[in-house]
Amino acid sequence: MKIVVIGAGVAGLAIGWRLAEAGQDVVLLERGQPGRGATWASAGMLAVTAELQNSHAAEIEFANYSNTLWPEFAKQIEVLSGQNIGYVPHGALILAEDAPALAALERQAIQPGSTLVRADQARQIAPLVTGDIAGGLWSPHEARVDNRRLALALTAAFSKAGGRLLANEAVVRIERDDGRAAAVRTPFGLYPADAVLLAAGAWSGQVEPAVAPVTPVKGQMILLTPPPGQSPSAAVIWGNGIYAVPRGNALAIGATVEDVGFDTALTDEGRDRLRQAAEKLMPALRGWTLADHWAGLRPGSPDGLPLLGPTAIEGLWLASGQYRNGILFAPAVAETMRDQILGRAPVNPAFDPRRFAA
Ligand SMILES: Cc1cc2nc3c(=O)[nH]c(=O)nc-3n(C[C@H](O)[C@H](O)[C@H](O)COP(=O)(O)OP(=O)(O)OC[C@H]3O[C@@H](n4cnc5c(N)ncnc54)[C@H](O)[C@@H]3O)c2cc1C
Repeated sequence: MKIVVIGAGVAGLAIGWRLAEAGQDVVLLERGQPGRGATWASAGMLAVTAELQNSHAAEIEFANYSNTLWPEFAKQIEVLSGQNIGYVPHGALILAEDAPALAALERQAIQPGSTLVRADQARQIAPLVTGDIAGGLWSPHEARVDNRRLALALTAAFSKAGGRLLANEAVVRIERDDGRAAAVRTPFGLYPADAVLLAAGAWSGQVEPAVAPVTPVKGQMILLTPPPGQSPSAAVIWGNGIYAVPRGNALAIGATVEDVGFDTALTDEGRDRLRQAAEKLMPALRGWTLADHWAGLRPGSPDGLPLLGPTAIEGLWLASGQYRNGILFAPAVAETMRDQILGRAPVNPAFDPRRFAA
């Protein structure tokens, strides 16, 4: 089957890879360079504990399933690409500032293996946390990945599996024949297809005809590097409205959540808010240097759940709306979209893009 995938973020790359591996003829069209959208801007956490505290049951199940696929997914990408993607299960510590917050964490402790810890135990895990806390929830097995290395390695894995990536090819339209998606048009050419997969992240709704009810949700992050003699702890730390993710010897702090359309401007306000919140939790960060500041657009959906499946147009599939968890979801998204397109698996009704068709 000839399959055209639109968008080379983590979703398009991973699905394209799985389809190419399954012997399909896959062309991936990317309007810029692969992996430079939200996937590049991300923090790379596989945050099954913190991100899913208040989620829909179907999303919790999907996230946990994807998390179980991650070790093998990472290994396969590394073997095929010959590149290390920095998959490390160094744990995540969610901090509570007071007793009610700690009680709430206890009620929401949904991950097996997670344990409540006292303030002194939390400080042993994360010695930089000297600000006021009541304790925390410690998930020692939670992993993270270097999302930028992941994007580069997935690009290599996709090509090694026989997929064809065309960069700097912005899709403008999906052409139909007798109502069915039959080709994809860019300024440079027309690409015939038996199936089309739209995986253009936050921009999925901009491809004509518009079938994806996706809206961009901006997130800014900053990177702090330590003075000599200091270093971050190995675990990801959550608290005071931010998270802190080790990146080499630096700490990436995220993220703002802004409803400002396709604007990706960096703001002093966003930068300062992240820095101040992190410093309240970890006062030593006042001596750290601001080394980077970036923004990306998460693909949001109207009900906050992913959009994974067929659209109202026959032959046109959608993989978007992963919002804050597109890196965590990648292995399961790749698996379900491959299996749906090849007719091997049903669509999950909670994620069916056609739920918004009316
Ligand atoms: C600040 C921030 C932090 C995050 N942290 C995490 C985290 O820790 N863990 C996690 O799991 N998730 C995280 N996320 C969310 C995650 O990054 C996204 O859910 C995920 O990257 C979405 O992947 P995608 O492939 O759908 O989109 P993208 O990575 O945005 O890729 C879409 C691609 O489509 C291309 N494209 C767009 N329009 C067209 C067109 N017309 N033609 C051709 N190509 C097109 C774009 O250029 C882009 O390369 C974070 C996001 C942000 C912004």
